[in-house]
Amino acid sequence: MNNTFLPLSRPALTDQDIAAVADVLRSGWITTGAKNAELEALVCDITGANYAVAFTSATAAMHLLLHALDIGPGDEVITPSMTWVSMPNQIELRGAKPVFVDIDKDTLMTTAERIEPLITERTKLIVPVHFAGASLDLAPLRALAERYDILLVEDAAHAMGAAYQGQPIGQSGTAIFSFHPIKNITTGEGGMLCTDNEQLAQTMRSLRFHGLGVDAFDRETCGRAPQAEVLMPGYKYNLPDMNAVLGLGQLQRLAELNAKRAELAARYLEQLQPIAEITPLGLPDYDMLHCWHLFIIRLDIDRAGIDRDAFMAALKRRNIGSGLHFRAVHEQNFFAGKYYATQPADNTTELDNTCWNAARICSLPLFPAMTADDVDRVVTTIREVLAEAAAKLLQR
Ligand SMILES: *Cc1c(COP(=O)(O)O)cnc(C)c1O
Repeated sequence: MNNTFLPLSRPALTDQDIAAVADVLRSGWITTGAKNAELEALVCDITGANYAVAFTSATAAMHLLLHALDIGPGDEVITPSMTWVSMPNQIELRGAKPVFVDIDKDTLMTTAERIEPLITERTKLIVPVHFAGASLDLAPLRALAERYDILLVEDAAHAMGAAYQGQPIGQSGTAIFSFHPIKNITTGEGGMLCTDNEQLAQTMRSLRFHGLGVDAFDRETCGRAPQAEVLMPGYKYNLPDMNAVLGLGQLQRLAELNAKRAELAARYLEQLQPIAEITPLGLPDYDMLHCWHLFIIRLDIDRAGIDRDAFMAALKRRNIGSGLHFRAVHEQNFFAGKYYATQPADNTTELDNTCWNAARICSLPLFPAMTADDVDRVVTTIREVLAEAAAKLLQR
């Protein structure tokens, strides 16, 4: 057995990226400043967005978004249960209700047809998730949102560098990216709102810094005008320059980094193809560019004679890291208790594809510094784990 641990993910940082952080630390200005502005400008450049506003996390941006839209008690927000807990949590904390929508069984992404029946007069917002680096089928989603006059905001935490019908995610509408270390671009912690809505961009900019009428940093004064006033009570979610600068180098290498991910993913797809117990996520059939944030498989738990958690533990014992993206939100303690107390949460037929996948998905190591040999090592280890499980089945 190879005794170096192969992690699920590793940030793609160079010595130059690290030196850039050290330069900020030496510069005398370490919080939100010129580097933050550069990061926002570069994201506008790459995505084609009119406005980009950086935050300390995608979750912070989601919180401010719900605040900016005045979403609260009596309001509903439609979002998948197959997602990270950020958006559902923020909806709850605003006193509103998350309405969970099911997903496609193979891409793990929701669709306009699944969302439409859930729309009520209380629906204030729809937040679908671009999953694993693939793009949502945005055209029908946008048409639906327009038809009902409901705002659509894309959870694009996985989607920096992805595109839909030739258009980068973030170019139009409103999308929120994450720069958490597991994501394909990281600032340590961080998030970015891209929007074509000038008013929303302005409100979010103000809300991220105490609700002042100015930004955290003003280029003219090389600081902030001390006379700035509160226009509305705000929060403190501005991204420090020592974080922002970390993203600049990676974003300049975005295409290269994502191409490396795509290469590794293609090798996984080829190598895993003969393994009957393993089914990678399906690829959407519409025109899109995948940025391969995650490589996710589904384990055939009936055929394999081993459940997903045991499978992950067996990989770990053999020095292969893996991840679970994600546990279904509606099956988690708080949400199951609050909304599904009268029926078992895992028995909710409207969320069939979510539940089915939640029991079977597993993310395999994928990061740009991996080699083809690393992919082969993961696949060989999967074969060993499955062979061991099969042998145990025979003994029974
Ligand atoms: C990572 C992630 C988030 C949260 O991002 P943070 O920057 O960690 O707040 C939100 N939604 C999805 C789908 C994610 O994967």
